[in-house]
Amino acid sequence: MLTGSVSEKLVISSPPLKNTDQLITVLTVEKTRYLSAQDFAAAFGVRIYYRKESGKIVFFFKNNKIKLTVNNSFLMFDAQIFQMPLPAVLIDDQVFVPAVSFLTLVKQYTLPDLQYTISETTDSLYVNENRINHFDRPKTTGGTIAGITELTGIRFEEKANGVAIRINAPGTFTDADFSSFFKGEEWFYLTIYGASCDSSRLSSVFPTNSIQKVVAIPTGSSVQIGFQLNRQFKSADVHFDMRTSEILLSLFLPLNRDIKRKIEEAKTAWIIDTIVLDPGHGGKDPGTPGRWGYMHEKDIVLDVALRVGRLLEKNKKIKVVYTRKTDEFIPIWKRSEIANQANGKLFISLHVNATKNISNAEGLEFYLLRPGRSEEAIKIAETENSVIHLEDDEDKLKYQGYDDITNILANMVHSTNMKDSELLASIHSRNFTQMVAQKNRGVKQAGFYVLVGADMPKLLCELGYNTNKEEARKLNNPKHRQKMAEAIYKSIIEFKELSDKTISR
Ligand SMILES: [Zn+2]
Repeated sequence: MLTGSVSEKLVISSPPLKNTDQLITVLTVEKTRYLSAQDFAAAFGVRIYYRKESGKIVFFFKNNKIKLTVNNSFLMFDAQIFQMPLPAVLIDDQVFVPAVSFLTLVKQYTLPDLQYTISETTDSLYVNENRINHFDRPKTTGGTIAGITELTGIRFEEKANGVAIRINAPGTFTDADFSSFFKGEEWFYLTIYGASCDSSRLSSVFPTNSIQKVVAIPTGSSVQIGFQLNRQFKSADVHFDMRTSEILLSLFLPLNRDIKRKIEEAKTAWIIDTIVLDPGHGGKDPGTPGRWGYMHEKDIVLDVALRVGRLLEKNKKIKVVYTRKTDEFIPIWKRSEIANQANGKLFISLHVNATKNISNAEGLEFYLLRPGRSEEAIKIAETENSVIHLEDDEDKLKYQGYDDITNILANMVHSTNMKDSELLASIHSRNFTQMVAQKNRGVKQAGFYVLVGADMPKLLCELGYNTNKEEARKLNNPKHRQKMAEAIYKSIIEFKELSDKTISR
């Protein structure tokens, strides 16, 4: 269902809101209700941090921090990670989250006394405490003469999704006291029964950008207020706010005109259409040096990456991004930045292994980013991470955020891309066993810096040891490297097909 209008809102009955007038917009798109995260935060008076460029938003609740990202279905409560059925989406600069799962998680982890209803904003189904309390209303409070309340003022507030109009009404009203309708696109009429007014106090010309004119007409037992509209509003809500003794009229703009497109974008955000190939090292950093006159690590991995790229580029639906295509030095931080900026969906880092001295150690290894499990894995990670020492001071500064690396790693174990990365690794391992004449040491885990920053499924391949003379000979053979490239290519395509199929379901 996509009506192009805001038809519902979230009504919180507990805990008490800081900002009771804040409308919490709810949009229904294809049977899923989304609520505006910013509205939600504003209603609770919760501080948020929002970065438009990255789509990241953080809520600072009293006891917890909640982090979520646009186009991503995962959210974090402090260090715990949860998945919602659908990703958060950005609509007109507002972050919308799948309402029910978000609220369930919030209730479970942050606001145990959270009580809410989702109510329509346009018709009389609207239920709140005010209405329930005042069903049997005696109209006797201040400002009333014989059950008639004098309306004493009106004010307007432009909001991102419409305009809020507050009418001072020092009495009590129920929803049954209001009737309202749009007349064409130009006028909106509100009739308030049991009210009177001095027409000049409520009428005005151009009170706010959205409204051209207001005409209030008292009829004895009711007041009819006509609003001449400058903008095309789609729906309205009116109710009495007991706490402020105001009639609150909200006129809503057709905010979600492009939601469907946004949802589609959110879906395609997961399609594996951009592959980032990251040949390790380069330039002043040779990686593990070649012996016996063989190539250095940097040259082997660049050659394999270019071969994989040539195969991938034949597929019109795939864009290939290289962190380097030539023999140049690229700092590690820059590699994940390149990947993220290109909106990469898969990150494959290629390396060649080495022992301290010439040895018989041999074999392929496929690394996932996880805190090091074995001594050996830690050692390899340290060697690859040591590239940082070749970077200049400015580059090194970029790793200050990585100080907390164990923390990042711990969080990532459960995170979005871990499962995908595991799948990617197992496909690679299987295809290499079948296609490449080399010992396969299998899938391992370690904390490689180069994998930390890339926000996508990722894998680091150690293509063998160039401290083993026999394996170094293979790595120097272009035919062998072509086989490796084919195995990587086949694995990427297999992964893409599996992953894309899951998304389109
Ligand atoms: Zn390396």
